[in-house]
Amino acid sequence: MKYLLLVSTALLFTACKGVDAPPTADAVTIAKTPALQTGMVAAANPLATEAGLKVLREGGSAVDAAIAVQATLGLVEPQSSGLGGGAFMVVYDPKAAKVWAYDGREEAPSGASATMFQDPATGKPRGYFQRVGSGQSTGTPGAVVMLHAAHQDYGKLDWGPQFESSIALAEECFRVSPRLAGLIKRFGGYILKNDPDTRNYFFTENGEPLPEGFLRDNQPYANTLREIAKNPRALLEGDIAADIVEKISQEPFPGTLTVADMAAYQPRKAEALCTSYRGHAVCGAQPPASGGVAVQSILGTLENFDMAAAGNTAAGWHLFAEASFLAYADRDKYVADSQFVDVPVAEMLDKDYLKSRAELIKPDRNIKEVKAGNPVSFARGKDATPDNPGTSHFTVVDKDGLTVSMTTTIEGAFGSQRMVRGFLLNNELTDFSAVDKDADGVLIANRVAPRKRPRSSMAPHIVFAPDGELLFTTGSPGGNSIIAYTTKTIVGIIDWGLSPQEAIELPNVIARNGSLRMEAQNLRDAETSEINRGAGAKEFGMSEDIVSALEGLGHKVRRSGGEISGLHIIYRQDNGTLVGGADPRREGTAQKP
Ligand code: GLU
Repeated sequence: MKYLLLVSTALLFTACKGVDAPPTADAVTIAKTPALQTGMVAAANPLATEAGLKVLREGGSAVDAAIAVQATLGLVEPQSSGLGGGAFMVVYDPKAAKVWAYDGREEAPSGASATMFQDPATGKPRGYFQRVGSGQSTGTPGAVVMLHAAHQDYGKLDWGPQFESSIALAEECFRVSPRLAGLIKRFGGYILKNDPDTRNYFFTENGEPLPEGFLRDNQPYANTLREIAKNPRALLEGDIAADIVEKISQEPFPGTLTVADMAAYQPRKAEALCTSYRGHAVCGAQPPASGGVAVQSILGTLENFDMAAAGNTAAGWHLFAEASFLAYADRDKYVADSQFVDVPVAEMLDKDYLKSRAELIKPDRNIKEVKAGNPVSFARGKDATPDNPGTSHFTVVDKDGLTVSMTTTIEGAFGSQRMVRGFLLNNELTDFSAVDKDADGVLIANRVAPRKRPRSSMAPHIVFAPDGELLFTTGSPGGNSIIAYTTKTIVGIIDWGLSPQEAIELPNVIARNGSLRMEAQNLRDAETSEINRGAGAKEFGMSEDIVSALEGLGHKVRRSGGEISGLHIIYRQDNGTLVGGADPRREGTAQKP
């Protein structure tokens, strides 16, 4: 029997004052899904995938497996996510036909201030890497307690056995992956060498960056996991919390996070943010994640065009780019932590509003100057938030159909590059705007405030078939490009009929803030990321014919020599079997138990 739910896009967790009722509620269909033959895990490292599969084999739920995946990623992919970071997790309950958004985003200390990243002498933000490596960049880590909240709702095993694989790997050594080795090398000359703990961990006795294949142990990490297995709040209370505070209080630019700030931290849970796209419910995370709103805003704009007919051609990518420019402009201006500022989510996703945005798009030329729209009348300053890609996305479905789509991060590569008890501390607070007001003196929504959570681009999603049953999960790392990477897969699967793997291997096209960047096969003039060069442009880049046609429409295309998406998808086929997709730009796998 099918259960039709009307899921309102209104936020459940907002402290909004003075905002009228949303103009229209968006009706989406979410139904129960029958049990499956088997589950699946897709994650950014084969050891992490295997840890999740082992838990599924032992009778654990998708949430139990997610705990094992996260604990292993923090060890084998420490540059991207871990115990010291935060996450957003979307969970579909196939028995209740409900979709939940868990928020384990880091939180600013009570001593944080809107101008803390500015140089008091000049009023200008301090240099980006100075902010990253400062004690001020670390917020209360929320990933573990968020997983614990989900475990209380959906765990089948006791809290504890999920950590066994990662404890064994940490004690018995794991092989440093090619990507980790490459990143240690790239960051060796930066701040990774300053902290004695990171220096000892990521470099050999001769001071060389750990090479690929090096057998690395991490006894402190195993010890920390044992503490967490006994007490899910072990990071936020007691000795470990005291060590975190001690590390953050060190120069340069000591932070103000206290043990009391950490003890006060609670993960949030709300109904997921859902809209419909061509009859499919599309459900993502709530603010302070901007990924849910922005992905759904691009889709809501594209719904006004026949994307299937436009196809994977210059015409299709032109529409994709224009809708992205418009949605990113709105996201940049309005999205922040909705417990601190009014975030007009319902207005931004209102179908009539998005139709008016779509009317700005012309098939034969690009929009010369894209501006944020006015879904509401209040003013917001022009955004000035940087975004430095690290992060990991993984997904698990168990045989009951319980589904997890989780994006997890310590922000930039190696976070704040300070290590405590075998794990890295996040630099998530650099996801706040580094200044509080724009050039006109208007306050920026994503400015720092005590106990506020910084805006994120993370966009874990679960998409449902028109009958409301589970169809697929998607999401990616990649800084603010996450929004573009993730939306590409939804368009690829729903509009262009691609398999998950084909959708992942579509060229990445990022249209934001006046720049149209895309993976291109022709690497003349190619740009590569300074921070974290990905692979894939040669294999999956846009053909030069399409690039030239887009240039003919007025787009100034920046050819990217490789993007750092790390998309992972699980897709439920008509016959109830699962297929997965893993992004070849990273090291992940998608497998069944
Ligand atoms: N810290 C970023 C965010 O939450 C993610 C960085 C990344 O994906 O690499 O949006």
